[in-house]
Amino acid sequence: MLHKVSLGVGDIDKYRLIETRGLIDEVVSLGDELKGLRLCHINSTPFGGGVAELLVSCIPLLRSLGIKADWQIIRGDRRFFTITKSLHNALQGAPFKEIKKDSTRRVLGANNLENARELDPNYDVFIVNDPQPAALRHFSPDSKAKWVWRCHVDSSQPDPEVWDFLRHYIEEYDAAVFTTGDFIPQDLRLNKVATMAPAIDPFSTKNMFIKRYVCREVLGNIGIDRQRPLITQVSRFDRWKDPFGTIKAYRLAREKIPGLQLAMVGSFATDDPEGWDIYAALSEEIIKDDNMFILSNLSGVGNMEVNAFQRASDLVVQKSIKEGFGLVVAEALWKETPVIAGNTGGIPLQMTGELSNYMVNSTEECAEKIVHCLENPALSKRLGRQGKEIITRNFLMPRLIRDELTLIKKLVAK
Ligand code: UDP
Repeated sequence: MLHKVSLGVGDIDKYRLIETRGLIDEVVSLGDELKGLRLCHINSTPFGGGVAELLVSCIPLLRSLGIKADWQIIRGDRRFFTITKSLHNALQGAPFKEIKKDSTRRVLGANNLENARELDPNYDVFIVNDPQPAALRHFSPDSKAKWVWRCHVDSSQPDPEVWDFLRHYIEEYDAAVFTTGDFIPQDLRLNKVATMAPAIDPFSTKNMFIKRYVCREVLGNIGIDRQRPLITQVSRFDRWKDPFGTIKAYRLAREKIPGLQLAMVGSFATDDPEGWDIYAALSEEIIKDDNMFILSNLSGVGNMEVNAFQRASDLVVQKSIKEGFGLVVAEALWKETPVIAGNTGGIPLQMTGELSNYMVNSTEECAEKIVHCLENPALSKRLGRQGKEIITRNFLMPRLIRDELTLIKKLVAK
């Protein structure tokens, strides 16, 4: 059997404290209609990155609605995950010539076949997240379940050869889900293609309210001087997050804001072998400057610490050059911390209104906006408030649960 992530049952009623538009009643009613449905989410890592973050909150809530929801993880060797990271990169547009090689396809096929054999057939619906396990449906030809492929990356301009390879697997699904319509490759032929944006859990350890003095102490314990301004980027060690661009922008901004500090908070995921090299290269840069910090889940920086950084930083930066959605943007805005972020992928969905002026297309622009916000505390405060409103309205977990159950209802009704 595949590894099942150990989780309990959530409490949907708690969300009534925030959500007052009848959405919780709608979600509860969908749960009643689908009561007892056996649903399995599948992905390739139990921690590190947005999908794990989504599932850790979504599964307990689905259970609280009466859905028999589970989350299982595929297995794979290093070679498999090296190839699947290239598939992930290729969906975001990076070339991956090796996809033509028989040996590459053999590794992908063999690993997916092995995982498919371990699948528990007693589920009504499988939701398969991202490209790593995409071929599971192909290798489960006798399955009576409904199958949904959920794409979390910006697949608007995929490498054509990789997309052609994946497309054939995806077209065997009952439905595919993308974060926005712009990400749906034009030649995808599937009866049901839905769009739904991800969401954050306002009550998770990462996002729950913590008092300011606790945040300050957490940062103080790490050696950050809270008397001086601090900007933070939180993300996997991944080239699409442009961590070196963030460092360059920080250095430019520091010319105008002399005491400025930068924290690069990152995490490693079991399905992301490239993270180590990026971490090593970043560490070499960061060590040159006592005002820069690099922190990770390996040195004990977990959800609570990320929460503290997102709350206590003067600004959060997310200088991505490709971004599926960017949960970190939603997380920071939820905490009323203003964000300066790359103008790409799912970020414009979140940075609307005045915040859209703080999406950037270059390192120089990023530095300029950092300085502008730091020099204008009233503006920063306003952006933070507006951000919280946007997230509250559109990007909290009950809305995502509603969208997911609405799709499932349609699929199982057929
Ligand atoms: N994250 C974390 N610790 C870190 C770096 C990232 O917990 O050191 C979390 C972050 O808070 C967010 C998720 O990982 O919840 C990243 O999701 P996002 O959608 O921003 O990017 P992805 O990793 O999915 O590309």
